[in-house]
Amino acid sequence: MELDLSWALVGLPLAFVLGWLASRLDLRQLRIENRTQPKAYFQGLNHLLNEQQDQAIDAFIEAVQQDPDTSELHFALGNLFRRRGEFERAVRVHEHLLARADLSPGDRHRARHALALDFLKAGLLDRAEENLRLLVDTPLQSQARLALLNIHERSRDWAAAGEVAHQLSQSGEAGFEVRRSHYLCEQAATLPPEAHAQRMALLNQACEVAPQAVRPRLALADEYQAQGDQASALQHRLSLAQAMPRFVPLLAPGLAQLALAQDRAKEVHDWLLEHAQASPSLDVMEALATLDQALGLADVQSRYAQHLQKEPSLVAARAWLASEPFTHESERPAIERALDRAVQPLRRYRCAACGFEAQRHFWQCPGCQAWDSYPPRRVEEL
Ligand SMILES: [Zn+2]
Repeated sequence: MELDLSWALVGLPLAFVLGWLASRLDLRQLRIENRTQPKAYFQGLNHLLNEQQDQAIDAFIEAVQQDPDTSELHFALGNLFRRRGEFERAVRVHEHLLARADLSPGDRHRARHALALDFLKAGLLDRAEENLRLLVDTPLQSQARLALLNIHERSRDWAAAGEVAHQLSQSGEAGFEVRRSHYLCEQAATLPPEAHAQRMALLNQACEVAPQAVRPRLALADEYQAQGDQASALQHRLSLAQAMPRFVPLLAPGLAQLALAQDRAKEVHDWLLEHAQASPSLDVMEALATLDQALGLADVQSRYAQHLQKEPSLVAARAWLASEPFTHESERPAIERALDRAVQPLRRYRCAACGFEAQRHFWQCPGCQAWDSYPPRRVEEL
């Protein structure tokens, strides 16, 4: 009897408490809430994977409304808005994140970086720069500097870009010495023609920063040529061609021109011929044809024929046909016009990163802004 009584004493209050809890808590509702948030999130993810960005945005907005404290969803939503080009909405999401007092320092840096990218994409470079500068001395410092580099390049502020590239290479990021040498060359190119000493100083600095880079050494040779020092110009081009054989096609036309001006045509001719036998190229063929003609060494047509035996080139075939007599000579202009039209695209340079084609060689692609993405050979030889 004693035992039964003690159970009743414990059981009655317990039943009361359970009944009260059941009235306050709808278990069914709780189960639904627990499921809804992941469902909207996974729906959003599924839409993203199917590249349905509009539906993904709707699903993430629903998920964010159900759980406004989740920062990851805000980040996903903000980045989606930016990718869709809806910069104002992206900025609002990231500013809302930054305004939250409960955000961890790591997430605060991420939100600031994301906000800077929103401004960058929207073209508000000063506001982007302002936010990126606040990320120096944080774990996102490298990403911030890369974005700053993008801003300085877009505004063609080469001195500021050079400073950031220097900081990146000092912090252990590889490959920024060559980039810095490009910036110094760009700076040199903006100077007026009479600023010879200043230009030389910048180009020499570019050579020191990246001794393996081709551009500053070529620019230095061009500077000597512009100042009338043909001997130094030829010597610089020649030693660059010997050190960087891959770039001989780009250097060959200038080499032929300088060699002719200084009575060193035979020496340069023989060097180019040796190079062409190992690695034939259209520009070297044309430089050799120029020198052949000036020196009276061989007729131009046989130079093109030799090239054709090694490479099936339409450019070389067109050049060969120019001195070949036709049975129907009156048809020559029409035939040459058609051939020139076919040859023209083959003489272009093509960016290896985006495929943008141009009549001349670029160190920075005008299409995708990549550096050193143009191979020094024509489209026909790629
Ligand atoms: Zn490109």
